Amino acid sequence: MNVRARDRINVESFLIPIVKKLRDVKMEKKANHCIACSVEQCANNSQSGYCVLDKIQVGTHESNPTVVQCTDCESFVLGTDHCCH
Ligand code: SF4
Repeated sequence: MNVRARDRINVESFLIPIVKKLRDVKMEKKANHCIACSVEQCANNSQSGYCVLDKIQVGTHESNPTVVQCTDCESFVLGTDHCCH
């Protein structure tokens, strides 16, 4: 490995955790404590039990919703760190 490639890896390994930490701090600061949410796979989740949006849209996929399982957060966006496959 040449010096330039090694330096690049060192810089990336140094910067990536800092960028992730800054993102986490930003998300925590923005946590909307009026919207509790445990869906950590969502890009809008603060990772501390809250949504970061100012408001969310709740809907249903049923024609006659009768139980909580019939409801959906329609503001859900799959986060980049997660995948359902
Ligand atoms: S958008 Fe919905 S699912 Fe996503 S964090 Fe907010 S409340 Fe939770």
